[in-house]
Amino acid sequence: MQPVFRFAPSPNGLLHLGHAYSALLNFDRARETGGRLLLRIEDIDATRCRPEFEAAIYEDLAWLGISWETPVRRQSEHLADYRAALDKLTALGLVYPAFESRAEIARLVAAREASGPWPRDPDGAPLYPGDAKSLSADERTRLIASGVPYALRLDMAAARHRVAGLSWNELGEGPGDERDIVPARPEAWGDVILARKETPTSYHLSVVVDDALQGVSEVVRGQDLFNATSVHRLLQLLLGLPEPVYRHHGLIRDGEGRKLSKSDRSTGLRELRAAGMTPAGIRQLVGLG
Ligand code: GLU
Repeated sequence: MQPVFRFAPSPNGLLHLGHAYSALLNFDRARETGGRLLLRIEDIDATRCRPEFEAAIYEDLAWLGISWETPVRRQSEHLADYRAALDKLTALGLVYPAFESRAEIARLVAAREASGPWPRDPDGAPLYPGDAKSLSADERTRLIASGVPYALRLDMAAARHRVAGLSWNELGEGPGDERDIVPARPEAWGDVILARKETPTSYHLSVVVDDALQGVSEVVRGQDLFNATSVHRLLQLLLGLPEPVYRHHGLIRDGEGRKLSKSDRSTGLRELRAAGMTPAGIRQLVGLG
């Protein structure tokens, strides 16, 4: 079967060298394997995504010499697909509404930390500290009817209970140089958010739905998403979606060893190009020369 790759940037800023590396790796892999390269615009966060950043993505990738299939899938146009997946998880009894605001969550975490460390997810954010899972059906109905905003969370314990032997096939370099079959530990993320009132889906949910709908067979992306793969594998199993292989690549870092950020202009593709850098020069810079 023809392999399918995808590069999936969020249009919430301009692309930097790290994006160029990831996009070029996907492009090269697709060419080496006679595969297809898709581009997906991950624009579910309407507060941060902007059309001018999307336009810049197309321009910068084309400048790098990358070509991709059209039409491009723009996540904001496919909310019904994510809704259907959420409905499926809800029907399995794995989703519950949680009504705490971000400020309330921060207060709850602080209160719990007063009596010892509170667990954090692999990205360093505190796990959900609330007890919305134990609200009665009546109480939920009452709160929803009264218009209190809520997030829909995955009941991780119940979800984990349904799947045995969760793992993924890793072709790249994990943080511990892991390769081959990596055991998944989605419980490290706690009861992750699957949808919010203002954004009726989440990164985790939309990425697994799209990778499946688009037939992606090899996910090539940065090591910063290595641990998220645990959640993706769990959702794939719960939703009955196919399993891609994963190739997590090392991150391009700045002079101080920090991960690049969209706000640091010195490694932005626009700036490098304005300073006279060529696409071949970018390849060299990221070690693909
Ligand atoms: N949209 C994500 C990002 O820009 C990447 C998603 C993925 O490759 O799974 O970081």
